[in-house]
Amino acid sequence: MNEAATRLSPDAAQAPLAFDNSYARLPAKFFARVEPTPVAAPILVKFNRPLALEMGLDADVLERDGAAIFSGNRLLPGSEPIAIAYAGHQFGQFVPQLGDGRAILLGEVVRPDGARRDIQLKGSGQTPWSRRGDGRAALGPVLREYIVSEAMHALGIPTTRALAAVTTGQPVYRETILPGAIFTRVAASHIRVGTFQYFAARGDTESIRILADYVIGRHYPELAEAEGRYLKLVDAVAARQAALIARWLGVGFIHGVMNTDNMAVSGETIDFGPCAFMDTYDPRTVFSSIDQTGRYAYGNQPMIGQWNIARLAETLLPLIHETPGEAVDLANDAVTRFMERFQEQWKAVIRAKLGLGENEEDEDTDLIRAFLALMHAQKADFTLSFRRLSDAAADDGAAPAFAALLADPQAAAPWLSRWRQRVSRDDRPADARAEAMRAVNPAFIPRNHKVEEALTAATTDGDLSLFEALNDVLASPYEDQPAFAAYAEPPKPGEEVLQTFCGT
Ligand code: AMP
Ligand code: MG
Repeated sequence: MNEAATRLSPDAAQAPLAFDNSYARLPAKFFARVEPTPVAAPILVKFNRPLALEMGLDADVLERDGAAIFSGNRLLPGSEPIAIAYAGHQFGQFVPQLGDGRAILLGEVVRPDGARRDIQLKGSGQTPWSRRGDGRAALGPVLREYIVSEAMHALGIPTTRALAAVTTGQPVYRETILPGAIFTRVAASHIRVGTFQYFAARGDTESIRILADYVIGRHYPELAEAEGRYLKLVDAVAARQAALIARWLGVGFIHGVMNTDNMAVSGETIDFGPCAFMDTYDPRTVFSSIDQTGRYAYGNQPMIGQWNIARLAETLLPLIHETPGEAVDLANDAVTRFMERFQEQWKAVIRAKLGLGENEEDEDTDLIRAFLALMHAQKADFTLSFRRLSDAAADDGAAPAFAALLADPQAAAPWLSRWRQRVSRDDRPADARAEAMRAVNPAFIPRNHKVEEALTAATTDGDLSLFEALNDVLASPYEDQPAFAAYAEPPKPGEEVLQTFCGT
């Protein structure tokens, strides 16, 4: 690695944040100590002031000195930069050694509410896990993660957050030469299913125990004293993933690379690469250029979530029960429960989206399936269908706007009348139903064509105005924002984005 980053004198009183680095206190083989490689001419292009304040950080200092701090050129007192070791199944193939190849954890801070958060730079230079990579990131993917992770947060879905983006003043070499950038990510932690697999692949049960106890302490403290806590840990991670994936499906989100190294055990959405939101409803939708078989298609995500949980469970087998056969049986049950949980969560998400009240009816599942089938057959826009249906819940006059989303608007009537009959049996007034529906059916999602448009302007012309505008609109996804109606629209013919790229 090149010259070292400047270290400030460790005067904690002047520090804009107070680090407390618990991961760096784990055994040495869990990570490598490595400092960011300084960059030539960093410029702070985006700073998330509300997030900094929420975390109890000194937002004024971070904004003023953001170029130096968020590029890694200046290390703050108390920072103990590390790159974390992990492994992972990539598209089903096990890779025993991946690790943070272009990311460096600066340290952890404890928020005023007591929650611990990682602060990580992505694109900050090589680490012992870079393999052949340059350790860098390009501006496009950095801004993309910024937009999409903040949009997910505004949608109310657990996710890592975006604290800052800087340009480096240095090029990165991909298929073309691109402007370099560094992303600052905030996460509940960066521990992945693949972190467990790293030690399992080495037969290092003692490290798995240490990691599992650390994860329990940090993310599942209610299990700390529980009997059979390692099996319960699998169950708890599975429950959060099941809920998370149900939420993804509810907004048409396709992660794109659900490798086990991209699944956080905290239950947050992590690693926004070729992720995308679906426009027209089709469960087979795939955008990622590298997902040629559709392994990570929209509708496959629950199944892949379960597959990943099975990989997590495998790593914990020696801790689940001393008799291998017993351990496998117990773990299998936990893996089975994942799908049951997902079904429950998904039904709750979609019932709310359709405005169905608390009293479940047997017919509900069929009504849901019929709605999905209608959207699919009629090539309807997923997001707008639910949003316009929300309007129609209070006002019959809005029904034609829903029907107009279908290839054949006439096809809407039978399902609509069935739906009206069903919701009339709930005791909720129509206005309240419409309001509740609008609170779960966004008007605005990061439409691929709007994201691409913003990234193209930023990377080719240095024009960040579209990026800023998109962020602003997506900060209030459930409000109508008539001035920004164009952002709610699906792509016009010729505007569709057919493929997204991970850009690594
Ligand atoms: P990702 O596709 O971002 O989930 O990354 C998969 C693996 O490739 C991780 O181990 C990354 O650290 C590594 N990686 C991705 N891009 C780079 C890069 N430019 N330089 C070094 N390692 C990288
Ligand atoms: Mg990754």
